[in-house]
Amino acid sequence: MRIEIITIGDELLLGFTIDTNAAHLARELAAVGVEIVHRTTVGDRADDITRAVSEALDRTGAVVTTGGLGPTSDDLTKPTIASLFARRMILDETIVEAMKARWKTLKRTGPFPHSNYAQAMIPEGAVILVNRHGSAPGIWLDDDRSRWVAMLPGVPREMRGMLAEELLPLIVARAGAAGAAERATVIRSRTLRTTGVAESALADQLGDLARGVNGLELAFLPGVDGVDLRLTVRGLAAANADVALAAAVMKLRERAGRCVYGEESADLGEIVLDMCRRRSLHLAVAESCTGGMLGSRLTSVAGSSDVFLGGVIAYDNSVKRKWLGVSSDLLDEHGAVSEAVALAMARSAREGMGAEIAIAITGVAGPDGGTALKPVGMVWVAIDGRVAEARCLHLFGTREEVRLRATQAALDMVRRSLDTH
Ligand code: AMP
Ligand code: MG
Repeated sequence: MRIEIITIGDELLLGFTIDTNAAHLARELAAVGVEIVHRTTVGDRADDITRAVSEALDRTGAVVTTGGLGPTSDDLTKPTIASLFARRMILDETIVEAMKARWKTLKRTGPFPHSNYAQAMIPEGAVILVNRHGSAPGIWLDDDRSRWVAMLPGVPREMRGMLAEELLPLIVARAGAAGAAERATVIRSRTLRTTGVAESALADQLGDLARGVNGLELAFLPGVDGVDLRLTVRGLAAANADVALAAAVMKLRERAGRCVYGEESADLGEIVLDMCRRRSLHLAVAESCTGGMLGSRLTSVAGSSDVFLGGVIAYDNSVKRKWLGVSSDLLDEHGAVSEAVALAMARSAREGMGAEIAIAITGVAGPDGGTALKPVGMVWVAIDGRVAEARCLHLFGTREEVRLRATQAALDMVRRSLDTH
């Protein structure tokens, strides 16, 4: 079954509210094998709502809207779609009674507001979707060509509740009537997480697989932690979908190689801590431009205390000298952002804290402070363990992004070094 989503509200167009309803609807519907083929957002204008809904009905004949069901004058969804379906609006007494009861249980004082009656006006012949989480009921309208529109409220909490309790069962029943084979199918995804490789380089490396694996769609999702690779299967029964995904994941993992560090929402900090734990290794850090971000990332993982010992935030050179014993000569000769200083910081942190591995980060986070030789985004990362090694990174983005990328790259250096030793 193919469905369209129309989210309604000026606040969505103005960018004040992020359209989380459309994302939630898409995920929930995909889980029952229903495909979202088109998404539209319109403001609180009757003309725009009419046009969007009638175009969607022409395309797919199956539409879910959210928003504009409230009691105020900017809430136009119901009367507008009713007139598109040529239905009169009639007062539904059961809704009035339910709202009055709710008014009492919420112990609201004063008379029952007249504007609430607008919420009890229902298009003739509509199915009411009960709202147990708020006052505005949802509406399901069919026409004589079995095209339909389901209207849900905009408030995300109410929308989610009504979707689960009222609308999904109706849609699943519809999809069932449309064909048993289709009803049994699902849309499922699995994600491989990569880091340390640019999207374009990764695409080259994947070659023909970049366009899809065994007929499964592949999406490249770049972010500060790296590029996620998401495989999606559609149109198969659940068990077959899982088998197809497993085979595709294996093939993709093999081709992508060492840049893959985990699946789904895996966190590299947690992975590195696990690797150290299995090898009975302890970690220490010395951070300049990341100012404790790496330590924070590691300590945010429950149980990190058996691996992570601590760190020094050596931001100013005086701290690098006094607390990490980096010599003035070294700082003068190479500068704070250099291979020599990164290595010295790591060695000193490891020895000083009695760790088996230490990580040091020193760089230019920006937006100021860059020079021709040491531009913004240039970061030296060193690890000191069984061997000492340093890498120079050239990172892009805002100050915060440079710091996040440096942290992730430092963790990845540890992962890769432990993988080979
Ligand atoms: P409405 O049902 O149009 O009165 O919307 C009520 C409230 O729900 C709005 O003020 C928004 O904060 C929120 N809302 C409406 N539409 C969405 C949406 N698509 N995604 C997330 N929040 C929404
Ligand atoms: Mg609204």
